[in-house]
Formats: sequence, C-alpha cells, structure tokens
Amino acid sequence: MPAHDVLIIGAGLAGQRAALAAAERGASVAIMSKVHPVRSHSVAAAGGINAAISVDDDWRSHAYDTVKGSDYLGDQDAIEVMCSEAPAEVMHLEHIGVTFFRNESGEMDLRAFGGASIKRTAYVADITGQALLHVLYEQLMKNHETVERFEEWFTTSLLLDEAGVCCGVIARDVRSGRVEAFRAKNVILACGGAGQVYKPTTNGLIVTGDGIALAYRAGAPLMDMEMVQYHPTTLVDTGILITEGARGEGAHLLNAAGERFMEKSAPNKMELASRDVVSRAEQIEINEGRGVGPEKAGIMLDVTVVPRKRTHEALREIVNLGRDFAGVDITREPIMIRPGQHYIMGGVKTDIDGRTPIEGLYAAGEVACVSVHGGNRLGANSLLDTLIFGRRSGEHAAARAATMPQPKLDVQPQLRRDEAELEAIISRPREGRRVSEIKNELGETMNRQAAVFRDEEGLNSALETVRRLKEEAQGAWIDDRGTVFNQDVLGALELGFMIDCAEATVLGAIERKESRGAQFRTDYPERNDEEWLKHIDITLEDGEPAITYSPVTITQWEPEERKY
Ligand SMILES: Cc1cc2nc3c(=O)[nH]c(=O)nc-3n(C[C@H](O)[C@H](O)[C@H](O)COP(=O)(O)OP(=O)(O)OC[C@H]3O[C@@H](n4cnc5c(N)ncnc54)[C@H](O)[C@@H]3O)c2cc1C
Repeated sequence: MPAHDVLIIGAGLAGQRAALAAAERGASVAIMSKVHPVRSHSVAAAGGINAAISVDDDWRSHAYDTVKGSDYLGDQDAIEVMCSEAPAEVMHLEHIGVTFFRNESGEMDLRAFGGASIKRTAYVADITGQALLHVLYEQLMKNHETVERFEEWFTTSLLLDEAGVCCGVIARDVRSGRVEAFRAKNVILACGGAGQVYKPTTNGLIVTGDGIALAYRAGAPLMDMEMVQYHPTTLVDTGILITEGARGEGAHLLNAAGERFMEKSAPNKMELASRDVVSRAEQIEINEGRGVGPEKAGIMLDVTVVPRKRTHEALREIVNLGRDFAGVDITREPIMIRPGQHYIMGGVKTDIDGRTPIEGLYAAGEVACVSVHGGNRLGANSLLDTLIFGRRSGEHAAARAATMPQPKLDVQPQLRRDEAELEAIISRPREGRRVSEIKNELGETMNRQAAVFRDEEGLNSALETVRRLKEEAQGAWIDDRGTVFNQDVLGALELGFMIDCAEATVLGAIERKESRGAQFRTDYPERNDEEWLKHIDITLEDGEPAITYSPVTITQWEPEERKY
C-alpha cells in the first residue's frame, strides 16, 4: 500500500507547486490527479498573474487593491502574505523556464487588469496557465525520484482515524477500476473549484467541486461559499471565456446603442473596474432592454480598438476562440458576450499555511478559502493564490511530516465501503433520472437563481430544487457497467460532490442578508458592515449543514465605500 509524508490530491498549479515545495523540504511526496496533470484546469488560465514587480509598484498597493476588490471580506493577513510574496514567486517561475512576455526594454511586460491601480499582470500571450503548468510539470518529472505521480486516479474519500486526524485517502484507478488505500502523514487537497455546478460556466467538465465536498463530508468547514464570480466576458451560447486581458489591452464594452455604459457605474476605471461591478453593469443593461442580439441577452465587446498587430501577438487565443466558437473575427468586428459563471471565491476554510481545522488535512488553490478573495476575486490573483498557498501548504506539511511517524489505521472498512458504493452505482436499475439530466437541471437552476442578482424567493426555490436533486441523485443511473475508464460511475460521484457545493452556496446566499462583492441581493441592496462584515462558515454536523460565523481579519485597511 502506498505511504507518503505528503499526499497531494490535484495536479493543477496549486498541487504541483505544493508537491515541489514539499519535495524540496525532503519529504516523500505523491501527487494524484483524476486526469493527466497538464489537462488540469489551470491550463485554461489565460490573462496572467499579478505581482508588484514594476519599479513604480509596491506590494502594499497590490494588497490594497485586493482588499478593495474583495469588498472588504478578504482576510488582510492572508492578502498581505500573498501580495508580499508575489514578486519572488513570479521571478522563481521565470527562473525555472516560464517565458513571460517582455517589453521593448527587455523587462518583463505587465498588462492592465480589472481593479488594479497600476499595470501589474505578468503574462504569456493569453495562454499563461498553459505556460506555467507545463513548466511546473517539467520540474515534477525532474523530481521523479522524490515525487511519485498517480495520474488518472480518482479520490473517492478521505481517511480519518478515530481522533479525526486525516491520514490518507481512498482512490480508484480510472484505467483499471481498482480501488486502493493511500496512507499519508498529510493530505493536501488541490482539487480546483466547482464551476460545473453552474451551466454554462467557463470551467471545464472536470471542475466538479470534489475536494470541497470531500473535506466537507470529513467535517471541515466551508467558508464564503455564497461568493460566486460571474466573469463579464463569456461567449453567449457556450460560456467560453474571453479573457479580461482583452479589456486590459483596451477593448470596450458597448450596449445596443453603442454606448460605453461603464461610464455610469465606474467612471474612472470604466471596463477595468472589478469583475463584480462590470458584470452587474452588463446585467443591468441586458435586464433593462439595452442588450444586443436576438433576445437582447448580450453585450458587445469591441476588441477592434486594440491595434491588430497587438491583438494577434498578445490575445491570439481569443482570436481563435472568437473565430471557432462564434464565427467572429475579433480584430475586425465586436463580439457578443455576457456575464458567465467563472470562479468560486469560497471553499475549504484554511489558515495562511493551508491548514484546515482537521489535523493532517490541508487545502490550496481554488478548492480552498484562505480568504484572499473575499467577496470578489481580482483577475490574475487566482494563479497567484494557487502558487503562494500551494507552496506554503507543501512546506508546512513537509515540516509536520518530519515530526511524526506514519499513522496507523485499519483502512479496510472504508476501502470496502467505497468499493461497495461504486458497485451499487454501477448496478442501479435503469429507471428514474440519468446523472446528466440531474446535472443539467442543477446547473440551469443555479444560473437562474444564484447568479449575478439574487433574492430570497429565488434562493429558497433554488434550495428546494437542489435538495430534490440530491434525493434523485441517490438513484440516478448510468450506462457503463465496465471497469476500464468508467467515467460514468465517476460522473455519478462528481454529481454528489456538485450538489453538496450547490447546497452550501445557496445556504450561504440565503444567510447573507446584504449585498457585498459578487453577492447582490435585490431585497437587501446595500452592504451592511455592521451586521455582515463576517465570513459565513458551513459545516456538516450529523449529516446536516450548520452555519456559524467567523471574523474578517483587518490589519490596515478599514472598510470604505468602493468606487471605481
Ligand atoms: C478559462 C479560465 C481562465 C482563467 N484565467 C485566469 C488568469 O488569467 N489568471 C488567474 O489568476 N486565474 C485565471 N483563472 C482561474 C484559475 O485558472 C484557476 O482558479 C486555477 O488555475 C485553479 O488551479 P488549481 O490548482 O486550484 O486547480 P485545477 O487546475 O483545476 O486542478 C485541479 C486538480 O485536481 C484534480 N482533481 C479534482 N478532483 C479530483 C479527484 N476526485 N481525484 C483526483 N484528482 C482530482 C484534477 O485532476 C486537477 O489535477 C481562469 C479560469 C478559467 C476557467
């Protein structure tokens, strides 16, 4: 049976960075991923990564912008850590081989991004995630003697001993169907977000909230789950992302009358206000009949104002996306977009070293909530979050491992339980609803009732639907009865994970009776610091979600009204 000092679940940027950091500290490390590591969703990241590396910049300015962007819900101690460590991390990436774009003087080029008071986003055209992920994977292969890779293994549950300490996982080999126990002194969850809870979303099919649900079911609290980011520029039919880099390069947003409507809500920053502000402004245009397209459900993004040569050089991927998925040459005509689900600010509650309240269990990256994004994440701060807190988790877990023996635990009962659960799904009678039908209803419900604008009635109705779908999912049937690459049975598990995430999101959104960051309650349209400057934590107690609150850490920036 495999046994390691540090076992990392997830091989996106957070997971790979954690693995390398733990290995560097001398720990024996394993990294597991349900897909090949370079297919992890970090590969889709486009626009760039923030760091105060310009001589005119200062990490405190980055931190202030992040605090303001979070609508003061972000924990300032964690934000200070992230922003102060950012320049060294970006330089480290460059030293290990990331070919960041350079300016004419040969320095690292920086582009403008939403909510930032200065150009601070380092980038590789609009394929920054791909560039980062491949370079880290090279490093993993270089460290193959200290980091064991379990590629295409799916974690089904966490192993906890009688004292509630995490000491490994159960996982299924996707290729063969074999289920095995993995012992570890520490487990780091780096499983990414939960975008597939919504339909449409900019997130890939594998982003199903597994890590959030695994931790939640093991008793870890979730935090800020009501905070769901809608990105201002996603393609109307498919939800595919058009990077904020486009607006960073100068693209305009236009309503049906050809007006740059951002003048009304963000006269200084215009299209480069924070995402929550821009998405709301777009949705207001659409709701009030000033949208474009057949159902007036879109907004025009005009990239033609960016010099064509620059677009081909720095935004080449969205030139391809526009052509292939919307039939539009963005260098010659505007493209129709709308706000679409993109990111979740919430996740498994951790401290600044990635520790969850469960001993031996860490979380880093989009699965986690440190909380550096609070009510709204600034563009290009997520790649940074994955790397900083991935590294810190790896380092901390390695140090903890050095102080302890491998925990002893009889893994057989849980191994058999997980095997039996998988078998039971495979042999369900072909009646009732299919997994895909339930998933579609979940996504459409969330996109209707837990989106840019929310209210009590819609959220209560969403909760009712989510709970009905939870029941239906217990008996949802699948086609594939085999063992080899049975994605169907894993899809059924993922559906359960997504439903847990959706329930937490809706419960948090009902609980938070104010408007802050990405949560805009039309029935409580004001921010209310007196009552709601606090995190909402959700923990599973006796099978039921229980809500508590935790304070927001404020170090140097007192809450102010946000203006862009
Ligand atoms: C289209 C798009 C563009 C973006 N652009 C930017 C950008 O320019 N800048 C920025 O800062 N942010 C950007 N983001 C956000 C950012 O890319 C993500 O938040 C970040 O990459 C998440 O990284 P991660 O390591 O946490 O998770 P991921 O990269 O999603 O990796 C998750 C890993 O967990 C594994 N996993 C999940 N469940 C299981 C399981 N049950 N068993 C085993 N393994 C499992 C997966 O296989 C995968 O390896 C973008 C997001 C999208 C969708």
